Amino acid sequence: MRPWTVGALERECRKALMDPALSVRLTQLDGKEAAYIEWAAGDKARVVVDPHEMGVKPALIHELLHHVLSDDVGDLEDDLEEALVLAWEDVLTRHVNRSRYRVRWWREAIRRKVRGARAEA
Ligand SMILES: [Zn+2]
Repeated sequence: MRPWTVGALERECRKALMDPALSVRLTQLDGKEAAYIEWAAGDKARVVVDPHEMGVKPALIHELLHHVLSDDVGDLEDDLEEALVLAWEDVLTRHVNRSRYRVRWWREAIRRKVRGARAEA
């Protein structure tokens, strides 16, 4: 596993969110899941979120962690990967929320990403 710091984790998650290869789709998932990420050919990834079930920022932070950590945790059993992502999501969210500047960055970046998603739809 890479020598992660919470700062490096946030940086990689921000980079992934800004990457045009990652798209975000807000849709209705009928309560089965609140959010998930799907990977496609050519390094493309899409985060699908049901905003009725879950906030877009928590959903994105969670799914971006799966994405950013895939080299580190991709070989783990699913339940172990999920437990690790949930624990790190908590640490990363507290890190983001401790700074008004960081909260604003995430709010703006998500707004732009979701607006782009709607324009493409
Ligand atoms: Zn998960």
